[in-house]
Amino acid sequence: MFNGKMKALTFSYDDGITTDGRLIDILNRYGMRGTFNLNSATHVERGNPRMERIAKDRKTQVARYWRDELADVYKGHEIAVHALTHPDLTKLSEEECCHEILADVENLTAYFGTKPVGMAYPYGTHNDAVVNVLRDCGIRYSRTTVSTRRFDIPCDLLRLPATCHHNDAALMELAEQFVNAEPETPMLFYVWGHSYEFADRDNWDVIERFCDYMAGRDDIFYGTNAEVLL
Ligand SMILES: [Zn+2]
Repeated sequence: MFNGKMKALTFSYDDGITTDGRLIDILNRYGMRGTFNLNSATHVERGNPRMERIAKDRKTQVARYWRDELADVYKGHEIAVHALTHPDLTKLSEEECCHEILADVENLTAYFGTKPVGMAYPYGTHNDAVVNVLRDCGIRYSRTTVSTRRFDIPCDLLRLPATCHHNDAALMELAEQFVNAEPETPMLFYVWGHSYEFADRDNWDVIERFCDYMAGRDDIFYGTNAEVLL
């Protein structure tokens, strides 16, 4: 497991928005890797206005990348499904739900040349019917918005919880616990969020400080979601 190591760190960020570039620069600088969950229909061709994520209380612009930017921006990281158009999947028929997932898989495969195997639920919403559709569509793991503040390896990969969101007040305390642990069973630190939240709160220092503390440790494997989970 984890290339022979007992600990792994991974990141999961949603929506394919233009602040992802700054986050990826930080992850790359510290030798870390993550998974980016994209809604392929929101990445229009260059020349069209960038699509924006509809959000009322955002201070900053939340714009999606143009299609031709994607391969470059996300190079070296994993791309996963976030459904075609970011719907609440629990409100769709089985057929519509299936289309949202399979069309996203197909588009992302075309954009990146690799078939995605993972997913994050738009809004985190899911139920048994949605989980069954995912399984039928060949999705192997899907992240919820549940935080456990724990480091166990999740057993239900289609209802995957995270350790915490990057804005969790306990982030650095958890980081310290993780670094100081001498585990006999594997431990996973799984961070999730949206990169526009750093812009909204002007708190890029949160992820910078976290990565700086966690980086360069021989006993931690730094991998994408698929690399640490599958
Ligand atoms: Zn989302």
